[in-house]
Amino acid sequence: MKLELDISPLKTWLPNYTGPLIIAGPCGAESREQIMNTAREIAKLNKVVVFRAGIWKPRTRPNAFEGVGSVGLEWLKEVKQETGLLTTVEVANAQHVKLALKADVDILWIGARTTVSPFAVQEIASALAGVDIPVMVKNPIHPEIKLWAGALERINQAGIKKLVAVHRGFYSYEKTIYRNSPAWNIPIELKIMCKELPVICDPSHICGRTDMLLPVMQKALDLNMDGLMLETHINPKVALSDAEQQVNPEQLGHLLNELIQRNANSNNPEFENQLQELRIEIDAIDIQLLQALSNRMAVVEKIGEYKKDNQVTILQLGRWYEILNTRTHKGEIMGLNTDFIKGLLELVHKESIRVQTKVMNKI
Ligand code: PEP
Ligand code: MN
Repeated sequence: MKLELDISPLKTWLPNYTGPLIIAGPCGAESREQIMNTAREIAKLNKVVVFRAGIWKPRTRPNAFEGVGSVGLEWLKEVKQETGLLTTVEVANAQHVKLALKADVDILWIGARTTVSPFAVQEIASALAGVDIPVMVKNPIHPEIKLWAGALERINQAGIKKLVAVHRGFYSYEKTIYRNSPAWNIPIELKIMCKELPVICDPSHICGRTDMLLPVMQKALDLNMDGLMLETHINPKVALSDAEQQVNPEQLGHLLNELIQRNANSNNPEFENQLQELRIEIDAIDIQLLQALSNRMAVVEKIGEYKKDNQVTILQLGRWYEILNTRTHKGEIMGLNTDFIKGLLELVHKESIRVQTKVMNKI
């Protein structure tokens, strides 16, 4: 699937952007004091560019803290004036968009529970027609890349070019160590579908706890993601939502200092040279692999003709199991992962059956 989006790169609209983009702030705005104290400490770190705070909180169950509402917009204005941080809030309907725009919020974000609903996303997109404001779109709760892509398309078609995708992990039935399983292949796939699209990671909602944040942050950067969003509260213990996953500004500072910034490309000529040599080796091995597969398929075709002449069926399960067992055993001795060999053999076997079926059906 290709995703055609008309994108303005981050560096064209974020002041002094050198990457990665760091966004921090509480899950929810709770009081003026909590917002101002958190923002002041975050600003002192000199690493955060955008201050986040939810003021309309989508809660799974009713009667939980549902956000302070539009009074929080006044506090965000104050944050911007006093600290110079840009501000961002979650919007889930046209009314939220209207109020956030009126209050001069710098960036809007669409939450995971909203991205799942094309009606809601379209309502937001329509409210944004003719407006020039950056919009971040979180992945939908469940791992369906098309819904994520569709939401980005809807917002883009409303004329928003300053788009960012936010990877915040996915709900999974299986119990994992994460609150929301990262399924890294999905944001990677999104990037492949549209390489201009900035993709950032929200490790807080992936982890659901603070002791696992660093490896997830590092992994996101190692995958060349464009930024991180981290829930940060002046006193996480008393937070009214997502208390377990929020760090305080000091902890945020430590985490950001621990990050190792690797480069997508190296400027070291010796490294480049060595890498180039290894890549030449890989290229040659891939040609050998392809040649071996082509030779194998030629023999498969011969077997197909032979079976046809002798009225023998294509599929002989006994032979297939023998192949599977002997090859996985041999592969293990060679240090190859069993699941990998099995998957590869299954693909080769499927193709062999296709080739032999073609031979059988030839008149
Ligand atoms: C949030 O960022 O606080 C939030 C509600 O996140 P998500 O939409 O990813 O659950
Ligand atoms: Mn949250």
